[in-house]
Amino acid sequence: MLPKPPPREGPLGYLLLPPFRVQGTSVAGEATCVQIPELDVCFDMGVCPRAALASKFAIISHGHMDHVGALAYWCSQRNFQGMGPGRIVCDQRLAEPIRKMLGAFEEVEHSATPYEIIPLAPEQEIQIKNNVIMRGFEVEHTCPAMGYSIIEKRSKLKPEYADLPQEKLRELKDRDVEITHVLDVPLVAYLGDTAPGAPLVRNDVRTAHIVISECTFIEPDHKQRAKIGKHLHLDDIVEWLGVLECEHLVLTHLSRRSNIATARKQVEQLAGRERARRVHFLMDHRANRLRYEQQLASAEALERKRLSQHPGTDEHAHQGPAHG
Ligand SMILES: [Zn+2]
Ligand SMILES: [Zn+2]
Repeated sequence: MLPKPPPREGPLGYLLLPPFRVQGTSVAGEATCVQIPELDVCFDMGVCPRAALASKFAIISHGHMDHVGALAYWCSQRNFQGMGPGRIVCDQRLAEPIRKMLGAFEEVEHSATPYEIIPLAPEQEIQIKNNVIMRGFEVEHTCPAMGYSIIEKRSKLKPEYADLPQEKLRELKDRDVEITHVLDVPLVAYLGDTAPGAPLVRNDVRTAHIVISECTFIEPDHKQRAKIGKHLHLDDIVEWLGVLECEHLVLTHLSRRSNIATARKQVEQLAGRERARRVHFLMDHRANRLRYEQQLASAEALERKRLSQHPGTDEHAHQGPAHG
């Protein structure tokens, strides 16, 4: 008998949660890397899929190998591909060790890769895009760890001016009257490895549009293991769902031994159908592919409807007789 070829690497997890895509890979203890291309961020860099290179920021939750293993490679590849220095955001307690790690690669490689480290103190914020900031907050794990919330600073008309006509508003603006105020709109919250606790019910987490969180254990007899490893168990997630306002909860970091189909069923049983509909598992390729196919089908149906109501607006439509 000939030896078998090596097993094929699985595809990246992919969820289209408009207006964002959440993509990457995440298995507890092996590797986690969760990218949101629209926000230029990649949460954790345990492994570096090619797609992750395009993100300007690597946001590190904590220093365990499954979350930082590919950080040096990410910096180096970005540089090699001419994409500019990677920016690494991390808990301030992790900044020096990461600097030392990347510094060691300089000696190993006999060349220096440019990078930037942005250490965050708890509750400190940095700007990641126009009108979009990211805030770090401390979470509880077996080592220094941070969660993150991404918040859009949306400028809104003050309610007292809401009914005024445009020219009146312009006049007020010309007189330097402050007619708008800034509204915080929490877009995404990311919880890397964490024990349950107060950070899960922070306002900027509870009200985020998308919450991405670890859920390492699902079996009833693994609750003690979750407790010791300071991880979330599916029972914690179900309880949390009661107060989460998010439209989507993306679960990551399931252990390799856990069966995703079982996990999905358990969520439905424990949280009820309605709440379970908001829950996705990043690595549930089958369910996520079906979901995406449905999204594609309804987008196509919508486009067909638009074209039938406004014929001739298709930019690709041919003028004159169709090609034979
Ligand atoms: Zn981990
Ligand atoms: Zn960890």
